[in-house]
Amino acid sequence: MIRIHREMLPGSLTRELARLTDGIQQAELGGRTTYARSMWRHTTVRRNVRPPLVTALRRMAIGREFCMYCGDNRGLDIDHFEPVNRNPLRTFDWLNHLLACSGCNSGRKGDKFPTDDAGRPLLIDPSAEDPFDHLRLTLSLGMYTALTLKGKVTIDVCDLNNEILARGRQDARSVVEACIFQWARANEQDDTEEKGRWVRAIQGQPFADVCQTMLRLAELPSAPLVLESPDLIRLLQGSALREALLR
Ligand SMILES: [Zn+2]
Repeated sequence: MIRIHREMLPGSLTRELARLTDGIQQAELGGRTTYARSMWRHTTVRRNVRPPLVTALRRMAIGREFCMYCGDNRGLDIDHFEPVNRNPLRTFDWLNHLLACSGCNSGRKGDKFPTDDAGRPLLIDPSAEDPFDHLRLTLSLGMYTALTLKGKVTIDVCDLNNEILARGRQDARSVVEACIFQWARANEQDDTEEKGRWVRAIQGQPFADVCQTMLRLAELPSAPLVLESPDLIRLLQGSALREALLR
C-alpha cells in the first residue's frame, strides 16, 4: 500500500455528487442506507456518474491501475472507504472513493471499518495519509510489520500479509532490481529512450510498495544490511532514478 494523490473533480461532477448527497439527506433516517444503495445502483448514476469517477480513480492509481489496497490486481470497482451501510451520506463523497480489486472490495476489506473509541477509523486511507507512517515492509519476507495500531488493523483487515501477496512482493523486488541494473546500463550509454523503457517497466509492476520501500531504505544507514548490493544502493540514491520513481 502506498500513498495515492487525489485529483480534483470537475465542478459539474462535484455539483452532481452534492445533489445526490442532498437526496440521501432528505430520505427518512431509517431508510437512508437502502436509498443510498439504490441511488448508487440507479441507471442514471451508473451511466453518468460512476464512469467519470472510475476514470479519475484510474488516473490516480499506480501503474496499470492497480488496486489501492493490495497493489496487486487491477482495480475495477469503486470502494467506499467508509462503507455505505455505516455512513450513507458518504456514498457520493469523492474523498470516500478508492479504486479496489474485487478481492479487496467484496472480500478482504469489504464493508469492514474498524474504529477506535473516539470513532476514528483504524484503517489507512492511502489517499489521505502515507501508509509508510503506519507500516514497514520487510523486503526479504515481502511482509509488513505494523508501526501503529492503525497499521496493525489495516494488515489484518486487508490481509496484507497473506502468502500470495508476500510472495508477489518478493518477486517484485527481484524484477525491480533487474530493471534498475538495466536502467543503469542505458544510463551509461546515455540512451534516454531505453532508460524510459526501464522506468516504465518498474512503474508497470504490481506491488509499487516494494520499489518505494527500496528507494526509502537506500537513504538509511541500514541500507547495506537490507539491500546488500552497494551498486544497487548507489543507483537508488541517485537523483535521476529517484526523480523518476519516488512518489
Ligand atoms: Zn486489492
